[in-house]
Amino acid sequence: MTPSIQATDPCVHCGFCLPTCASYRVLGTEMDSPRGRIHTLKAIAEGELSLDSSVAVHFDSCLGCFACVSACPAGVRYDELIEQVRPQLNQVELRNPWQRQLRKLLLGLLPYPGRLRALLQPFRFYSGQNLQKLARASGLTRLFGPELEAMEQLLPSLSSASFGPDLFGVFPALGPRRARVGLVLGCVQRVFDPAVNAATLAVLQANGVEVVLPEGQGCCGAATHHQGELEQTRELAKDLVQRFEDAAAGQPLDAVLVAASGCGHTLKQYPQLLNGESGFSAPVLDVHEFLISLGLSEHFRSRLKPLERKVAYHDACHMIHGQGIRSQPRQLLMTIPGMTLREATEAGVCCGSAGIYNVVQPREAAALGQLKATDLATTGADVIASANIGCSLQIRRHLAAQGKIQPVLHPMELLAESAGLLSAAAPAAANNS
Ligand code: SF4
Ligand code: SF4
Repeated sequence: MTPSIQATDPCVHCGFCLPTCASYRVLGTEMDSPRGRIHTLKAIAEGELSLDSSVAVHFDSCLGCFACVSACPAGVRYDELIEQVRPQLNQVELRNPWQRQLRKLLLGLLPYPGRLRALLQPFRFYSGQNLQKLARASGLTRLFGPELEAMEQLLPSLSSASFGPDLFGVFPALGPRRARVGLVLGCVQRVFDPAVNAATLAVLQANGVEVVLPEGQGCCGAATHHQGELEQTRELAKDLVQRFEDAAAGQPLDAVLVAASGCGHTLKQYPQLLNGESGFSAPVLDVHEFLISLGLSEHFRSRLKPLERKVAYHDACHMIHGQGIRSQPRQLLMTIPGMTLREATEAGVCCGSAGIYNVVQPREAAALGQLKATDLATTGADVIASANIGCSLQIRRHLAAQGKIQPVLHPMELLAESAGLLSAAAPAAANNS
């Protein structure tokens, strides 16, 4: 861990980061706080401590939410520290065999939509059906242990759109073309909430944006990046970049967009991850920051119909702390006539999703999910807006467990609904017939 130690120097141990830290919030121990982990890193670097399994567990408890980075007055880059530590946590001796196999299974499955869809086929007749309700009510799902129970609890209803085919082709701008972009579908988002990409595409087109979707696009590598599996991340990243370059067919893109903030955070780190190898030739932007910087078109604004709803926007950690994007999703939601915004009191605290954290650390994640669901519901909102698929699944799970009925929708879905763009039919590309 030698490279990390200089980055710990600015820490003055003030503890301002502690109240914002999700792991400290639920575990309450200094070793599970940013200040404690920084202290541990220094002790390891100075030879006073070694990274064994009893120490590693306190790094595994970190969600990588980066709330501590936003809170730190001394400018400590804890995000850079934990990213340097994570690959070292994958050493065989640091986790028990069950945790190793679970992570291997998840990282061999989630980044590959084809594999994930094959595994989920039998669950079409389970998720959202009476059988699922029966299994949960009977306590059957608890028999498989907290990790598998968490997976079951997070499983959403699966529609035929969850099983593809994926959108691909060049989707023309409606009206005069104002920009030409690529759109990253996200591996989990396209399977577990395909309506988000359809809504995003429709909103972009209606704003005069031509959208390029490469055939066979894969995963951006966010899940593997978050777990310090850097070789796998680089392979996924290189494949994705190449597919966008091929699909752009020599006509430059103004931006590569994404509507899942966990993916956006990793996509924006490609220059460092790919270490000088060529990445996207266009800038990577979250769809909200792109639309605010482009400006909604007059045509689109004229389509917006009132939605008389109270909305609480959930700040995903990789959006607010990882990308510094806070105002743009709120600004877009506020363009919808009749919509009012409700603010949660703990908007900057992680919901417990954090990539695969809510499966591999199910107890801590569930405690955070309960806090988040309560906080959002207490705003009095009748709809929750979330721009990250992992957060959406986590919040839906815990709202449902509390008997709350608020739907969790992506801001693009609310914009598309207001603009009358929601349709059961898949949008048509200009060249994918
Ligand atoms: S990381 Fe920053 S906020 Fe936390 S104890 Fe150190 S200096 Fe204070
Ligand atoms: S990244 Fe989040 S969970 Fe980890 S130390 Fe920082 S605030 Fe705590």
